[in-house]
Amino acid sequence: MGLMYMSICPKCANFKMGGVCSYCNVEMIDTQTVFEDWLHEESPSKREEIVQHYIDTLIKDTYDPKAREYREANPKSVWAGYVPTTSITCPNCSSENVQKIGTGERAASVALFGLFSKKINKSYKCRSCGYTW
Ligand SMILES: [Zn+2]
Ligand SMILES: [Zn+2]
Repeated sequence: MGLMYMSICPKCANFKMGGVCSYCNVEMIDTQTVFEDWLHEESPSKREEIVQHYIDTLIKDTYDPKAREYREANPKSVWAGYVPTTSITCPNCSSENVQKIGTGERAASVALFGLFSKKINKSYKCRSCGYTW
């Protein structure tokens, strides 16, 4: 089995296993940091150092500190894994991977995305298909 590498979001510096950043909806960029190493790196300052290194090198042209601020003010799972917080299922795809949208997040998304935000009157968001209702 090959090594698995961590990826970083080019916008908000979200640091997790590949795929798409669940905050920015953009493709994550692969880093040289091995998943296992990251997992065993327990010092927050060391972790910050690693992330900062990639901000300075890999994503410096696309990095948006505001996007990161928003992400950190609205913490979901760092791994964006399945965190069952409700027993509500998505009306669109029946997934149980549903997130309650707090008033804080709604306010922030309005402030950040202005007219693009359709979240304002919605209370739930499906993490599987992105549907809000
Ligand atoms: Zn992001
Ligand atoms: Zn869904």
